Amino acid sequence: MTGAVTAHESGLDTLVIEKADCYGGTTALSGGVIWVPNNHRMSSAAINDSDEEAFTYLDAVVSEDVPRDKLRAYINQGPQMLEFLEKHSLVQYDPAPEYPDYYSEKAGGKLGARSLDPKPYTQRQLGSVLSAQMRMPDYDYHKNFSMTADEAHQVFSFTWRSHVVIFKRLFSFWLDVRSRLKRLPDNRLTLGRALVGRLRKSLEQKDILLWLNCPAQELVVENGRIVGVVAEKDGKSIRIGARAGVLLATGGFSNNDEWRSKYHKGESSSDWTAANEGDTGDGIRMASQMNAKLGMMDYAWWTPTMRLPDGKVEAFIVGKTMPGSMVVNKRGERFCNEAEPYEDFVKSQYADHEKTGCSIPAYFVFDGRYRKEYPLGIALGPGKFVPDTAAKDLFDSGWIRKADTLEALAEACGIDPKGLCETASKLEEFGKDGVDADFGKGSTPIDVYYSDHRIKPNPCLWGLVKPPFYAIELWPGDLGTKGGVMTDEYGRALDVAGQPIEGLYVTGNSSASVMGNSYPGAGATIGPAMTFSYVAALHASQAAPAASDSSVGDTTESGEEIANAS
Ligand SMILES: Cc1cc2nc3c(=O)[nH]c(=O)nc-3n(C[C@H](O)[C@H](O)[C@H](O)COP(=O)(O)OP(=O)(O)OC[C@H]3O[C@@H](n4cnc5c(N)ncnc54)[C@H](O)[C@@H]3O)c2cc1C
Repeated sequence: MTGAVTAHESGLDTLVIEKADCYGGTTALSGGVIWVPNNHRMSSAAINDSDEEAFTYLDAVVSEDVPRDKLRAYINQGPQMLEFLEKHSLVQYDPAPEYPDYYSEKAGGKLGARSLDPKPYTQRQLGSVLSAQMRMPDYDYHKNFSMTADEAHQVFSFTWRSHVVIFKRLFSFWLDVRSRLKRLPDNRLTLGRALVGRLRKSLEQKDILLWLNCPAQELVVENGRIVGVVAEKDGKSIRIGARAGVLLATGGFSNNDEWRSKYHKGESSSDWTAANEGDTGDGIRMASQMNAKLGMMDYAWWTPTMRLPDGKVEAFIVGKTMPGSMVVNKRGERFCNEAEPYEDFVKSQYADHEKTGCSIPAYFVFDGRYRKEYPLGIALGPGKFVPDTAAKDLFDSGWIRKADTLEALAEACGIDPKGLCETASKLEEFGKDGVDADFGKGSTPIDVYYSDHRIKPNPCLWGLVKPPFYAIELWPGDLGTKGGVMTDEYGRALDVAGQPIEGLYVTGNSSASVMGNSYPGAGATIGPAMTFSYVAALHASQAAPAASDSSVGDTTESGEEIANAS
């Protein structure tokens, strides 16, 4: 949709087609946060940045297989994309002033504001039809407590500000008497739904069409140039001509098990992904049929996930950092700093599994105080609001296990009891002086971003001391894959010889990520997806063959129905 807005503003006729019966993809399920260094909103958070600092940082953290020119293009174009969208669409972002880069301690790293939080929007502004057509998360927290990314940070910091945010949110929820009387969900859209809603409404205002239930099936090539797509619409195959180009943004291949086992190095399953079910690699397949070069196919935006009894999958990001908990393998041993960035967590899980053969699944083990104070994602609220008796199904299904002693919990999970008790004793000692001598939990700004500041001296670190004890399984899941079509700094697909394929642009998780095998900060997936959509649309509008060139974008040869976009 970012590409569509840009193309439209650059004078092109634009059409967006979507395979599903709803729009938004994984982006609508996400935090909607974008990581854009040196963005124009940083000054409002009183944080300075520069292109050079951003490059120093990315150069230090991004894997070497990403061309450094492409990093520079991202640094240069990201802020322009944001300013362009804020000027030409309804998209608005606020800096997240306390969201640190994931490796802020490295040279060029910043303690906040490179990550930006979508400004809330409302269902009323979006309209009832477009609201109903947006992809909905499986979980229903947004129905009564939609929070921005920054509000979530405040709430899960457990300072006095948490109470202020909770009070304000509940107050405005109940103040919307009209919706409450009609028992409607929260009118307020936040996170990915705010971003997607704002983009979708912008399309409507600009008369840019978005066709649902219209899967692209193959690309149309003429004289070496991509001039359209064949898609299915209303049960018929149609050919859509595209004079200036086709931008593929069909997500990654998280839900394609054949490719997961072909490309991923360790055990990998679509049962563990938090990405939307439409991510089956369609765009990557279509481009590779045109001789496009694929790369980074073994990389993903890894995150630990929980598999709920009904098969739904939830990323487990906030809860793993909280004190009174630890993650262990079947030997009862910890294998990483649980608060480290989620991509690193899964890499640690894979590394330990390779060594021990017993970390998939891993076990998130916590005590009675943890259970009382903190939610387990969206799946289970804190015990003080949702007692165990109110979550009988989760306990009966074995999704969460509970025992009065750590030994009994270990037996129930098949974990070595001696190992678990030894690890727990060690953690208790670490908690007393606040230093995790084994893995350094709570030692970096990103570790403590979500943490309990009532716990001293280390807000991430406390022993498992209060019975009963609980455990859930954690899987090496993902937020999306990040291998795909290799592209240049204009978002053009490259062929196996490294040459641009004329008329074909690829972005988001359909392309090999500009972040390579790393995750520099919150928003490092959607930021580049939007930036290279913007860059691609600008390039396409400038490089488009003249409209009078009848040899390009001819739509009359095949297909039962014909449509045209430029
Ligand atoms: C819980 C969660 C939180 C996250 N939070 C963040 C965050 O805050 N910031 C961040 O940067 N990243 C975040 N991510 C990751 C991020 O959401 C994804 O990496 C990103 O949204 C992928 O964007 P995309 O455009 O590539 O794919 P998508 O958003 O999935 O869009 C692809 C679309 O293409 C459609 N499609 C597929 N095949 C076809 C076809 N053949 N024809 C037509 N349409 C097709 C799909 O149905 C889908 O709608 C999060 C992910 C999750 C699950």
